[in-house]
Amino acid sequence: MRRKLVVGNWKMHGSHAANAELLAAVIGARPYGCDLAVCVPYPYLTETAASLAGSDVRWGAQDCSAHEQGAYTGEVSAAMLREFGCRYAIVGHSERRAYHAESDLLVAQKAQAALATGITPIVCVGETLAQREAGETDLVVKRQLAAVIHLLAHCAGEIVVAYEPVWAIGTGRTATPEQAQAVHAVLRAQLQAATGHGERMRILYGGSVKADNAATLFAQADIDGGLIGGASLKAADFIAIARAAG
Ligand code: PEP
Repeated sequence: MRRKLVVGNWKMHGSHAANAELLAAVIGARPYGCDLAVCVPYPYLTETAASLAGSDVRWGAQDCSAHEQGAYTGEVSAAMLREFGCRYAIVGHSERRAYHAESDLLVAQKAQAALATGITPIVCVGETLAQREAGETDLVVKRQLAAVIHLLAHCAGEIVVAYEPVWAIGTGRTATPEQAQAVHAVLRAQLQAATGHGERMRILYGGSVKADNAATLFAQADIDGGLIGGASLKAADFIAIARAAG
């Protein structure tokens, strides 16, 4: 039985006051029946770690460098994140693939860098609307995941995967539970074939998950929780989504 995982992706949102209020509410609503984490902007890592200390709510980053160290201005290494106690790093989010031209290989290298320090990468895959309409969804997500599997080899079983259809992110347009489940099943079969223990791995759904659609999505056989953007910024919504997960 896979324990569900719900992860908030704050993106480039937050302030000292807003973060403190949000985290206090999330902690105050414990216990949850799922694993819970928030992925926050780099400057807020320290205060988030302090706010969550002593609780079972984990935290992570929204990216990490593929490099160990060196002349990479603006980059943050996985080892630096780990020093703070970082548990997760989102890699390959579609916003980074689109706005920062991140390739499948670079995403795989970031996942490898994260794992090397003990951080669990949350590897995002997903198709655009044009790709879905062209019937290329399975091809695209399998290609994105294959790059990670190929580089990580026997360590691929350590990742978390997030299926995030690009057309559903921040648009209010959610994949139907059936559409999401179909892609999750494809991804799980790929993970099973590659690692031999795909049945144990967690595959999250992301894309306009809200308090009122979370339960039906999470009820699907291969959906093991969610990566939550906009709704993770509102305590009541994020808490309701976590409750829907268990
Ligand atoms: C995301 O940013 O990963 C995401 C799923 O965003 P939203 O929930 O706002 O669609």
